[in-house]
Amino acid sequence: MMPTIQEARAFGLAELAVSISPDVDVQVLLCHVLACNPTQLMTAPETELTEAQWQQFAELIARRKQGEPVAHLTGSRGFWSLDLEVDNSTLIPRPDTELLVSLCLPKLKHGMTAADLGTGTGAIALSLASEKPGVHFVATDLQFAALKLAQKNADKHELDNVHFLQMSWLGGFRPRSFDLIVSNPPYIRADDPHLLQGDVRFEPRTALVSGDDGLDDIRRITEQAVDCLKPGGWLLVEHGYDQSQRVQDCLALAGFEHISAHQDFGGQDRAVMGQLAETD
Ligand code: GLN
Repeated sequence: MMPTIQEARAFGLAELAVSISPDVDVQVLLCHVLACNPTQLMTAPETELTEAQWQQFAELIARRKQGEPVAHLTGSRGFWSLDLEVDNSTLIPRPDTELLVSLCLPKLKHGMTAADLGTGTGAIALSLASEKPGVHFVATDLQFAALKLAQKNADKHELDNVHFLQMSWLGGFRPRSFDLIVSNPPYIRADDPHLLQGDVRFEPRTALVSGDDGLDDIRRITEQAVDCLKPGGWLLVEHGYDQSQRVQDCLALAGFEHISAHQDFGGQDRAVMGQLAETD
């Protein structure tokens, strides 16, 4: 006899007892192995797993116990309304980053061109593209593996209004190319102790760390955005919980106007936006 759903769940909970989110982890992994949704788990607790399912589940629980991110174990993560493929070439999309998507949406009008810099899985560009089919998006990343993954995610969701380019920030674009530029760049300080904890241990440092104060890339993006935005264009960036004032100063120094700070769903400062003057 193989364990039932109920027994497999109890096993998973006992094994992951010391982790931060055992309930959610066990539920997501069990749904992944059984190819079902959480409601189906609840309504059929007496269903027995097959031998193959039990083996796969036990192996995933063992890997989770070693700290591997759930998104790497299942190969996917939900973001905005999309289910995105994830692998170890990019950052795992965070719910916090949905803030950037909601800030961009009211600014994007039919016929505009927008850029998502350091797109990773494609999370920001693809969410926006799904909501704004009349906007043309360019999504860049320095890592070819990330672009391949992002393109795969675009194909999966049949989004053809995003074009992917291998590039370092705005290096190769002509002046006045975009109506809006958005980015969730690396912003963690090189010596931040959080880099030794949780999921970030399994994510590429290039997607996380940005110099001694974490702001090297935000400074570079801001400087380049001044040239690459059209007059009246918007720049929106995600940043760390204690960087809001410095990011606002950085945009002000570069000449942006109407600068504002925004909090994520956990109440932490998480994004800053600013606009270039309408005329120059
Ligand atoms: N928000 C992520 C974290 O703190 C970092 C993401 C990033 O550097 N862009 O784990």
